[in-house]
Amino acid sequence: MEWMMYINGKWTKGDLEKTYETLNPYDGSHLAYIYESSERDTLEAIKAAKYSFYNDRSWRDMDSQTRGDILLKIADILERRKEEFAKLEVLDNGKPLREAECDVDDAVHNFRYYASLIKVPYGGVYDVNEGFGKMHSYTVHEPTGVCALITPWNYPLLMGVWKLAPALAAGNSVIYKPSPYCVLTSIKLFEIFDEVGIPKGACNLLIGGANVGNILSGSMDVDMITFTGSTKAGQMVMKNAASNVKKIGLELGGKSPNVIFADADLEGAVEWAMLGIFLNQGQICSAGSRIIVEESFHDKFVKRLVERANNITLGNPLNNPDMGPIVNEIQMNRVLDYIDAGKKEGAKCILGGYRYTEGECKNGYFIKPTIFDDCSSEMKIVKEEIFGPVVTIQKFKSEKEAIEMANDSPYGLAGAVFTSDGSRALRVIKEIRAGITWINCYNPCFNEAPWGGYKMSGIGRELGIKGLEEYQEIKQININLNPGVVGWYKN
Ligand code: NAD
Repeated sequence: MEWMMYINGKWTKGDLEKTYETLNPYDGSHLAYIYESSERDTLEAIKAAKYSFYNDRSWRDMDSQTRGDILLKIADILERRKEEFAKLEVLDNGKPLREAECDVDDAVHNFRYYASLIKVPYGGVYDVNEGFGKMHSYTVHEPTGVCALITPWNYPLLMGVWKLAPALAAGNSVIYKPSPYCVLTSIKLFEIFDEVGIPKGACNLLIGGANVGNILSGSMDVDMITFTGSTKAGQMVMKNAASNVKKIGLELGGKSPNVIFADADLEGAVEWAMLGIFLNQGQICSAGSRIIVEESFHDKFVKRLVERANNITLGNPLNNPDMGPIVNEIQMNRVLDYIDAGKKEGAKCILGGYRYTEGECKNGYFIKPTIFDDCSSEMKIVKEEIFGPVVTIQKFKSEKEAIEMANDSPYGLAGAVFTSDGSRALRVIKEIRAGITWINCYNPCFNEAPWGGYKMSGIGRELGIKGLEEYQEIKQININLNPGVVGWYKN
């Protein structure tokens, strides 16, 4: 299999025919050589998308029922090929198979959701004043134009689908650039796009990193850029997007608080806290990476958390251990550097804190689940996003203090509270400055509900109705019901 990019309805090795290698993070073995996009390829893709949207128009002008039906076909094929996609994701990314299977299921439902939503009538009719005579005022939603979509490697298929499904449903022409770390399932998804006959130029796939991303975000011919990734890269995208005042959507990093009160169900809080930080090896933007626990509950909670997290199994992700490897060596070393920093700044490492190399894990990029106790707000490991299986623990005495600690972050993506006091749960969650929150659970995510962050965690929302509207312009249409002279000018 040759892993290529897809531009203007054709698979291509790109102008340089240059490849890079990607490895299986489980054992460091060779996985694939992938063709990289050059500047010229990027400009080609932009040109193709622009022509598709502004000249060819066959995707944009297709009635929404037909366009929606094409998305349904994509969903059906993806569903049929679920195991193939899930296994490929595991080999490329390292996540346990059952998690990759959930990702494919979510992707299938995302296509179905937007296929349906695009058929729902959209727009409004307004009762307006009669200063200039009787008017009929209404709005329609139109596709934004040429949309560049950039995604990270932690949910390679799913993060792409969160953007591709609504952007395509709305009738845009897209240029998609996944993270170069994990592109294989994206390439396979474009095979499906090709098979169902999305018109040429309406969907393009580029493979590269910041070099390609910078051209897309700065281009005068791209009308919108939606980006999921680190806050640092998001800031670059935002600066570049000023070139032509592109529409932007930013889904960025997080350092989310998980607040646990003493009246919480112990076993439940422990298990959800583990799901919050160890799912996908902690490589989740919304990860509950800061546990903030009531002092009187601390010892009991931490003891049980350590016991259970210590039993987390690591191994070949195809065999469904609790945790797989980190996505690659660079990322593993980044996480290990944070662990070193935590130890140096005086946090107490009470579990893990090292690369895990036992048994079959000896050549992979595994990190033992890591828990730091006695943490304080000024520590680097509490302030910065680690994006790995590392959690910090802080103690609080009062509800007020818990809220202050929870909000003591430039990020505002997610957060949770655990308590059996319903009023307190609602009071605290209302105070948490974050876009995605949970009460007595952590991390469930739904295609129907809007996803996005406050503060430095981003701009805009994905998923749900909002997630479609991000890719649409709203046009106001005002009709004069009495055409003719207004009589405003006297002469
Ligand atoms: P990253 O910022 O390094 O890369 C993300 C994507 O941006 C990649 O495709 C990369 O090639 C591209 N890129 C890098 N620099 C760029 C630039 N200057 N211009 C344009 N594109 C550029 O992030 P990552 O390491 O791939 O992913 C991890 C980050 O993603 C974490 O910070 C995580 O919190 C965030 N994330 C956020 C969400 C969310 O919904 N808010 C979801 C998943 C991941």
